[in-house]
Amino acid sequence: MADLIDLTVAEAAARIRSGDVSRDEYFDAYREAAAGDSLNAFLWTAEDAAQADLEGTRTGREQRHGEGPLEGIPVAVKDIFCTEGIPTTAGSRILEGYRPPYTATAVRKLHEAGARVLGKANMDEFAMGSSNENSGYGPVLNPWDSGRVPGGSSGGSAAAVAGGLAPCAIGTDTGGSIRQPAALCGIVGMKPTYGAVSRYGMIAFASSLDQCGPLTRNVTDAALILQAVEGRDGCDSTSLGIEGGISLPSREDLTGLSVGVPKELASEAEGIESGVREVFERTVELIEELGGEVSETELPHAPHGISAYYVLAPAEASANLARFDGVRYGLRVDAGDLTEMYEETRAQGFGAEVKRRIMLGTYALSSGYYEAYYGRAQRVRTKIAEDFSKAFERFDFVVTPTSPTVAFKLGAKTDDPLAMYMNDYCTVPMPLAGIPAISIPAGVAQPDGGGPELPVGFQIAGPAFSDSAMLDAALALEGAIGFRRNGGGGAA
Ligand code: GLN
Repeated sequence: MADLIDLTVAEAAARIRSGDVSRDEYFDAYREAAAGDSLNAFLWTAEDAAQADLEGTRTGREQRHGEGPLEGIPVAVKDIFCTEGIPTTAGSRILEGYRPPYTATAVRKLHEAGARVLGKANMDEFAMGSSNENSGYGPVLNPWDSGRVPGGSSGGSAAAVAGGLAPCAIGTDTGGSIRQPAALCGIVGMKPTYGAVSRYGMIAFASSLDQCGPLTRNVTDAALILQAVEGRDGCDSTSLGIEGGISLPSREDLTGLSVGVPKELASEAEGIESGVREVFERTVELIEELGGEVSETELPHAPHGISAYYVLAPAEASANLARFDGVRYGLRVDAGDLTEMYEETRAQGFGAEVKRRIMLGTYALSSGYYEAYYGRAQRVRTKIAEDFSKAFERFDFVVTPTSPTVAFKLGAKTDDPLAMYMNDYCTVPMPLAGIPAISIPAGVAQPDGGGPELPVGFQIAGPAFSDSAMLDAALALEGAIGFRRNGGGGAA
């Protein structure tokens, strides 16, 4: 059993195709592992293979043609993706008991590629958070140290993959929610170009930023998942797919590539732990050893990313979350009249962080303040996108640490929302610009002040639709880093 769990997605798919391992044997190994979940990574797991194959649903009934590239691969699906007939909560008590009448396009495409829904992964409520402590169903624990956070908001997806409860997962990234938990759990996480993957059936947080992407043990597996889920979808008018699709990465060196290190997000960034900084610098040296050309660059407006993001994302969220009113979905708290029913349902159903964002967003959009907050934040967003465009005239990619710190202790930042928001310092500029970015594990480091050695993520960002080229570069770097899960290694 243990050896089945050690296989990467690419290896498992090859063995299933050759008949060496059966689909059900592989699925059962993971079903058992997921059933023993001690990380609170799952909110729901499939009882049997039929359920994982979405049997009895419209997606399950669709004719599949032959074997897909992900034949027999169980996937942990962040609970933000609607799955027909299967509980879907987005980590919120307000959606307790909700069973969607349809399946998200990303999940449907995984099914079409032969994958199976292993379970629905825990997450910060409506994807608002950086530590997975905002889930209405309890925090997720980091498999490297159960006293620490796995990162958020796709913390259940990341912990499941890092903890050997799932071979791969999908999550969503609005300001860093795939890359940051991937970094804190020592796995690969990628936010594709905005529009690469359909948002249909993905419960909306901030629609102009939200993007689905893979969380996997290595870069090749991330490419396999992205290959399956990307594509234009008639149900999402902002989806474009990636022209030519995603090709599997094969690069062994970085010769001919130029890489910029934006000083605002690296040498001049405040709050980066010394261990994280060391791993980052050594990884930059590895890029040079692999033949890449590295020089410092600038993204002058990137330091304002956090301020812009925490106006824009709550503004969009305040509109998107208006639909949870006790009438249409999940929880309803009966009260004297209709208005009171709305109020009571929302008061009881939403957690503190979600309420904070709704208030912030509603305020930023109010007529007297719209220009001062929302309008200005939009202009900052444009400036950040222009900074990246300028950098990409000269560089193929820019690189930064993914998260300023390694995994922190549960409860360490829950009383200080601003300290929590700073976790996203290096990850929010990319979704604001709509560009792709990937985090790969680059080594381990101790937290400032001492403690266990914990994984450190390294972020690579590229121009819109450079997703395949970025995966290719990440593969070469991954090979040189040689990170071993739970075994340290890497550039540290
Ligand atoms: N941590 C950020 C937030 O709380 C990003 C979340 C996300 O990407 N979904 O909004």
